[in-house]
Amino acid sequence: MSIIPEELKTQSFPCPKCGQFINDEMSTCRYCNAELTSEERASAAASVIYEKKAASIGSQKRTMVMGFVVLLASFANLIMPVVDFSLTYSDGSRIPCLSIIGIIFGATITLIGLNGYVRERNR
Ligand SMILES: [Zn+2]
Repeated sequence: MSIIPEELKTQSFPCPKCGQFINDEMSTCRYCNAELTSEERASAAASVIYEKKAASIGSQKRTMVMGFVVLLASFANLIMPVVDFSLTYSDGSRIPCLSIIGIIFGATITLIGLNGYVRERNR
């Protein structure tokens, strides 16, 4: 993670004329020598930032969904044990530890994904 906002860094983007990657410090493309106005450079760079943000939101969403699926599956397994893996105490009481570990794990992954998702949305 970087403390420098994406907008202030040198942004590389594909040249609108030839598609080669250049950065926004250059006023002409070094591949096709096309003159690029600052508006062209800014809008090309902005669309790259937008795509990165969209990709990041997508991956946070997948993390969130994956965590939630693990959480639901573990919760279902707690109520209706399909995979029965328990610790039995000496007094005979049983702790369904697989389901509990799954619930904690699933909830943690869901929260990490949710946190990342909210952070990306608000950037
Ligand atoms: Zn070019």
